[in-house]
Amino acid sequence: MPAIAFLECVRCHHRVSAETPQTLCPIDAGSLYVRYDMDALRKTARREHPAELAAASAASLGMWRYADVLPDATPVTLGEGWTPMVKSKRYPGLFVKEEGANPTGTFKARGLGMAVTMAKKYGLRHLAVPSAGNAAGALAAYAAAADIAAHLFMPLDVPLANYLEGIVYGADVTMVDGLISDCARMVGERIAAQKAAGTPVEDVWFDISTLKEPFRVEGKKTMGYELVEQLGWEYPEAVFYPTGGGVGLIGMWKAFEEMEQLGWVSGKRPRMYALQAAGCAPVSRAFDEGAAASRFFDGADTFASGLRVPKPYGDAIILDIVRASGGKAVATDDAGILASILDWAKHEGLFLSPEGAAATAAYDQLLASGDIKAGERVVLFNTGAGLKYTDMTADAMKLKRPGMLPTSLPVGGIITPV
Ligand SMILES: [Zn+2]
Repeated sequence: MPAIAFLECVRCHHRVSAETPQTLCPIDAGSLYVRYDMDALRKTARREHPAELAAASAASLGMWRYADVLPDATPVTLGEGWTPMVKSKRYPGLFVKEEGANPTGTFKARGLGMAVTMAKKYGLRHLAVPSAGNAAGALAAYAAAADIAAHLFMPLDVPLANYLEGIVYGADVTMVDGLISDCARMVGERIAAQKAAGTPVEDVWFDISTLKEPFRVEGKKTMGYELVEQLGWEYPEAVFYPTGGGVGLIGMWKAFEEMEQLGWVSGKRPRMYALQAAGCAPVSRAFDEGAAASRFFDGADTFASGLRVPKPYGDAIILDIVRASGGKAVATDDAGILASILDWAKHEGLFLSPEGAAATAAYDQLLASGDIKAGERVVLFNTGAGLKYTDMTADAMKLKRPGMLPTSLPVGGIITPV
C-alpha cells in the first residue's frame, strides 16, 4: 500500500498534509482528494491482486484487491467490494453492477469502510454523519467493527431498514423531521457547540459527511477500478449512475484518471450519466439549464430515498464530469421508477433499489431517444439491494400484507410437550 503524498483541493489545488485528519480545504472549503506519488506507483503498483496478499483468493479481498492504489492502513473490512457484474438478459451490452451484494446491502460500504479504516488509523473516537439512510447504516456497521462511536442523523421517513441498522449496530441515532440538508446542519451545530464548550479534542465528533473528508471518495473509486477490470481492463461506452450525493460518480472519474496514469487502461473514457428522481432532481435541472452548479431543490419528495439530496455538496464536480464525458443528467418520476422495478424483477430476476430503477428507467428513455445505441457496452449501477426498501416499495405499490389467516388449531396446539 502506498503512502499518501498529500491531499489536494479539487477547486484551488492547495495541498494539505494527510498526517492528521482533514475535512475541507482551509482556503475555499473545496473537497480534498487523496494524491499519491504516481511516478513511484507506476513502478510498484500491480494490476493484478497485491503481492503481499497473493495467498488469499483475489476475489475474496473485495475492494482491498486494489490495496496498491489505496492509503496505507490496516483495513476495517466486512467483505465490501468485488460485486457481481450481471449481464442483462434482454439488452445486449448492458451490465448491471450489483452493489446490493455489499455488506449492509449498498455501495455505501465502500466509502464508509475506507473512511472508518482511516478514522481508526488516526485514532478518532466519534464519527458523525448526516445521511439519506444507507450511509448511516454503513457507518453504524463499520464503526461497530472498529469499536468507534457512530452518531447518525437521518430523516424520519427513511426506510425502516436504515433506522433498524442504526439501532442493532448500537449507534447513537437521531431521527430528524426534515431532509439530509437539515441533518447536515444539525451535525455542524453539534460539533460547533462541542468545540465552543471546550470538549476535549478526542471527544469532539468528526464529520464524515459526503465530500467533507477525503476518504469516502477514495473507497468509492474502487467501483471504477472494478468495472474496468471486470470488462477485461477496458472502458465501457457509458456508465449509468444514480446520483444523490454523487460520490460514486466522482470517485470513478478519479479512478479512471489514476488508471490512465498507471497505464492500466486507455482509450476513450465512458460517457457518464447521472440519474435522479423527478421529485428531487437538482443536478438534472442544473444540467438542463446549463448551470455550473445546482440550486437547492425545494420540496424534495420521492420514494427513492437515497436520491433525496436537495443540494449535493459536489454538484459542480458532478456536472463537470457529466459534461466533459459527453453524458447527461436525467430524472424519472416515481411512477416510472416503480414500473422499472417491477419490469426488472419480473423479467430479469433482479429486485432493484428505487435508485437503481431510476437508472434503468432512464436507460429505456435514452435507448428510445437514440442517446444510447442498442448493443453499446453500458455499466449501470444498482446502488443498493431492493430488499432494503421493502416498506418504501410496498407503499409505492399500495401493497398491504394480508392479515393472519384464522386457524382451526387450538391455541398451544402446535407446540406441545412430549
Ligand atoms: Zn481549495
